[in-house]
Amino acid sequence: MLVEKNVAVECAEKLCASVANGLEGKQVSGYNAVKNAVKTAMEDGLMRILTPKQSMDILRQVKVAQNEKRPYVVVFVGVNGVGKSTSLSKVCFWLKSQKLKVLLAACDTFRSGAVEQLKTHAARLEVPVFEKGYNKDAASIAMDAVKYAGQNGFDVVLVDTAGRMQDNEPLMRALSKLVNLNNPDLVQALKETAYGQGPPRLIDGIMLTKFDTIDDKVGAAVSMTYVTGQPVLLVGVGQTYTDLKKLNAKNIVKLLLR
Ligand code: GDP
Repeated sequence: MLVEKNVAVECAEKLCASVANGLEGKQVSGYNAVKNAVKTAMEDGLMRILTPKQSMDILRQVKVAQNEKRPYVVVFVGVNGVGKSTSLSKVCFWLKSQKLKVLLAACDTFRSGAVEQLKTHAARLEVPVFEKGYNKDAASIAMDAVKYAGQNGFDVVLVDTAGRMQDNEPLMRALSKLVNLNNPDLVQALKETAYGQGPPRLIDGIMLTKFDTIDDKVGAAVSMTYVTGQPVLLVGVGQTYTDLKKLNAKNIVKLLLR
């Protein structure tokens, strides 16, 4: 059932095994009692995965950064075409509605047209873009953007990055550099590719895009959190700036077990 709803096979198997382990030795009588016990245990297991271990209140974190007199920095990462710049724009729209001053940093210096695409969003959203064109070191552009934001009273910097597959070693290394040099507050959606010293900085949260297009096949929400250990912070549910929601874990569980 889980796999049919797009939960990754390995994740579904582990989940079932842990539910089975948890029920071992439990006494129930009658078939329905068994069925209910299994269902409740599965619901609990799914809720445990989907519920963030610590609260991720972005607005509160922005306030903390404001008090420290520095901009709050979010880096958006992901594979090509997943909806990075659209999602970044949705987050920008939301932050603006909270009366925050937002700067977009155009750090996709790789794909032609990326900077213009971001500028188009920025014009609609009435926010400035920090850009230095193409074929430059994305990490240092991000750094300059954050510095500029700090000097010019911006509350938040949203950093757009080039889309890449996780097995593209040079591009992953460049991304790792960007993240490690700039030490952002939040990295939305990175796998281990260490740059420099110390433990690699991974993602802090996931934004699930195109959630409006998957009907009840909501299993990715479970697998992604299961694999990364990080929560789905936001869900994209359409192509306009207001199509942004928080993940409703109860609803996901209901759809998965329907
Ligand atoms: P990027 O290459 O990762 O920056 O992807 P884009 O932001 O350019 O998005 C690729 C396409 O996906 C565009 O046509 C977007 O309108 C579309 N898209 C992005 N987010 C959503 C979403 O939540 N729902 C739907 N239906 N489409 C989306």
